[in-house]
Amino acid sequence: MQYEKIKQQLISDPKVWLVTGVAGFIGSNLLETLLLLNQTVVGLDNFATGHQHNLDEVKSLVSDKQWSRFSFILGDIRNLEDCQLASAGVDYILHQAALGSVPRSIADPINTNSVNTTGFLNMLVAARDAKVKSFTYAASSSTYGDHPALPKIEENIGNPLSPYAVTKYVNELYASVFARSYEFKSIGLRYFNVFGKRQDPKGAYAAVIPKWTAAMIKGENVFINGDGETSRDFCFIENTVQANILAATATDEAKDQVYNVAVGGRTTLNDLFSAIKIALASNDINVEQAPVYREFRSGDVRHSQADVSKAERLLGYAPTYVIKKGIAAAMPWYIKFMSN
Ligand code: NAD
Repeated sequence: MQYEKIKQQLISDPKVWLVTGVAGFIGSNLLETLLLLNQTVVGLDNFATGHQHNLDEVKSLVSDKQWSRFSFILGDIRNLEDCQLASAGVDYILHQAALGSVPRSIADPINTNSVNTTGFLNMLVAARDAKVKSFTYAASSSTYGDHPALPKIEENIGNPLSPYAVTKYVNELYASVFARSYEFKSIGLRYFNVFGKRQDPKGAYAAVIPKWTAAMIKGENVFINGDGETSRDFCFIENTVQANILAATATDEAKDQVYNVAVGGRTTLNDLFSAIKIALASNDINVEQAPVYREFRSGDVRHSQADVSKAERLLGYAPTYVIKKGIAAAMPWYIKFMSN
């Protein structure tokens, strides 16, 4: 398997990585994997939605020697100098920093735009000038917008349905213009509903799996927006980490492209509720309540399912976690986190 091969190569020939958004959910999981592979990692974050406790947890999961290879920069991607400082001397950049969440972007399009668009452009300029070997960035399935086809194929996108989706699409446009104008080629990974440990269950803009899991553990109501037949291609974090490492180390032919990163499955919200309930029951937490249905949420796509064959073909991506296996793997973390 390509991923195993690349991991062995990285262990024998370690590189310097920059992970932006390192204190967040995906960033801290990338950090953990990279440090366990004895890589040197620079992290950039302003703690807008990330947490020191995510970094502390990674520290507890790696050796002292591995942790000594991590340096953290408290900085903001809206500030070009912070991006330049973080990019200096780096081989591979994994750019994750952004303000996520469709509803947040509807409530506050200006901040979402400045972080996700201006911040992205700053990172592209800094990466280009630092002459890094590769620049991989978090794109989003929201770019498919109102395109009705399923499964989603990279070439066929519709109109964006939220300010967040606009910003993520603009990232792709800037990335391709940088390839054309400066021969600076990057890779965009269109994530589809990533989940796993360290995904924040708190706050108004929490993602569905951590939000529901926390509510079920606490015995609170779980709200389903709409009839529950809205569906998503939920992707466990290990698959997402794999895609990033494969993209960062990919050959030039695989660059200047975007790739779906998911599993290729489709799970309705009603099925998701049952899956979390079953996983909690196997951890001796029995959920009695039924979900509470309410209005559909504006900006939401009705169905989402990825065709991941392009990433399989060009990156050697081979997702190892389907949703049930991922939920089972994530539950113990949520149970421990919620009881602290
Ligand atoms: P997250 O909120 O946990 O992580 C984002 C990190 O970026 C946080 O640590 C935050 O503090 C940091 N950040 C925000 N603004 C910043 C700024 N101005 N300067 C520096 N750091 C800043 O979210 P996540 O789920 O880990 O998302 C990571 C990336 O993946 C984002 O780009 C997001 O849009 C994208 N994405 C995520 C999903 C998903 O399902 N989680 C789906 C599609 C795309």
